[in-house]
Amino acid sequence: MENKILVVDDEDYHREVMQKLLVKLGYDVAVVESAEAAFSHLAKEKVSIIITDLIMLEMDGVEFCQKIRETDDKTIVIALTGHTDLYDAEKLKEAGFDNHLDKPFKLDVIKEAIQDGFEEFRRRTELQDKTS
Ligand SMILES: [Mg+2]
Repeated sequence: MENKILVVDDEDYHREVMQKLLVKLGYDVAVVESAEAAFSHLAKEKVSIIITDLIMLEMDGVEFCQKIRETDDKTIVIALTGHTDLYDAEKLKEAGFDNHLDKPFKLDVIKEAIQDGFEEFRRRTELQDKTS
């Protein structure tokens, strides 16, 4: 699970760019094209961070995050937001997102968000270990 990231985006180009960036940063990354595919992936393999697009057909990113939060308050979930997105930061927080990244992607911003994400994930894991 350590260092594993799952990227969910319905656009081939965005998946490709994110995968390349994250591999370049040294992370173990899987990419899927929908929330449904993400749940199948997560049933087989846990990850520390999920980075998800918001505007997707079928299940959108907000609903996806809310569904994750029904059973999981530990995994870091980061939203990918575009210029035309209708979601504000408050709404994303309410849905259970830990952070959001704006498109177009900037390498240093992504890098920092992921480092913060792993740090927070470790903190949550330690907290959980202490209370269980
Ligand atoms: Mg999309």
